[in-house]
This record gives sequence, C-alpha cells and structure tokens, in this order.
Amino acid sequence: MTPVIGISVSTLMLPGTRGVRRFALPDYYVRCVQDAGGLPVLFPNVSADAAAGYLARVDGLLLSGGVDVDPSLFEQEPHPKLGEVDTDRDHFEIALARGARDAGMPILAICRGSQVLNVAFGGTLMQDVPSLVEGALMHEQKALRHDAPCHSLTIEPGTHLHEIAGSTSRRVNSFHHQAVDRLADGFRVTARSSDGVIEGIEDPAHPFCVGVQWHPERMPEHDLTKHLFGALVEAAAQVARAGSKP
Ligand code: MN
Repeated sequence: MTPVIGISVSTLMLPGTRGVRRFALPDYYVRCVQDAGGLPVLFPNVSADAAAGYLARVDGLLLSGGVDVDPSLFEQEPHPKLGEVDTDRDHFEIALARGARDAGMPILAICRGSQVLNVAFGGTLMQDVPSLVEGALMHEQKALRHDAPCHSLTIEPGTHLHEIAGSTSRRVNSFHHQAVDRLADGFRVTARSSDGVIEGIEDPAHPFCVGVQWHPERMPEHDLTKHLFGALVEAAAQVARAGSKP
C-alpha cells in the first residue's frame, strides 16, 4: 500500500477572476511526495470540524507554506509589517495539526506550516523578523533560483532533524519574514540561523513531527530534501502497515 499524504493548500484571489477564490498548491510539494514514494492528496480549506474526517483517510500530513498566520491566534496585535492572512485556513490547519499530532500521525510542516504547528500547541511567532531581530540575516532571498541556498543552519545534535540531515551544518533557501518565537510546550528547537532565528522545531516524543522554516520542496534535487520527504513517507508507511490511523 502506497502511503497517502494529505497536503494543505492556499486560498488565492487572482486578478481578473471576478473575486472567485481558488485553492492552490505549488506543484513542488506534490512532486517531492511522489519522488519519495507517497501518494499526495490535497486538502481544501474547509471548517476545522472537517479536519478529523480528512485525517482518517491519510497516513501522513504535510502542512505547506503560504501567507502569514493571524496574530490574534497567539494573542498579539498586528505588527505594521504583518502580511496577508487567511484566518479560515489557519483554523483548519490548526485542527489538522492537533488531530495528527495527538494521533501520532507523521507531520512534516514547511515554512508557514512550521509556524502553524507551533501556534497550534500554544507557541508564538515573530511577526516580522527584519524589524524584530537585531542583525537579522536576509531571510527573503532574492536569488533567481529558488533552490539556491541563502543562509546556513546550525542543527542540534541528537534531534530527528540531525538524523535526517546527517550533519550539524547545512545551507538552505529562505523565503520568510515570520518565524517561531516562543516555542510550544513539548517541542524543541532543532536548527537556527546565525542570527538566532529558529529554523526548525520538532516534538521529540512523537515518531515524526518535524517543522522546517526553509522550503525543501523548492530544492527537490538536494539530498536534504530527499531525506526529509523520505522520512515523512517512511513514517507514514509504518502508520499504514500498522493500521493505526486515527
Ligand atoms: Mn531563513
């Protein structure tokens, strides 16, 4: 049985579409799940109540990137540099994250997904890294190639991420202006950039609950990407074999 990976999506309002909202996902996510041997399924943003029904039909969860998280969800007022938010999506993904983690279902959370994961369990975010971190690096890279590494990471030894990366030092791409600030209960930091910004989190007590702040899917040929998606699909395959879905 091919493990099924549910992937959250964005809601877009494109110019010239008369205000019709569309669900959308960069194809990189689908490609990386397929390359790792998983069967990707897209989850449209519906109400939080529907999250459990979606989770019951998959073996793993991929929380994708996208717009900023609504700061009211971590009890902050909006910073002037806060970008677009999609509170409906926030609520749906928070319900997905809680349901999956509680069920021991593998979760890979990318960029915004990692921030959602942290907020879902009581953590907070930095709403704008350049204005809140003294000496912040460039985290919104301008390189034409999205697979071009932007900054380095220091990875904590003994973490799942370290096991996956096989090294304590990596260079990754970077497309974010928000970041995890106060860590959610039960999580640990797995990686930071040299300015101290949190670039990775995980739940050490969970078989595979990993958040990364960079965009591995936009570096589909890199070994770190292959190892990350491979670990997600392998963990999901174990869930599928055990028949232990929620
Ligand atoms: Mn970064």
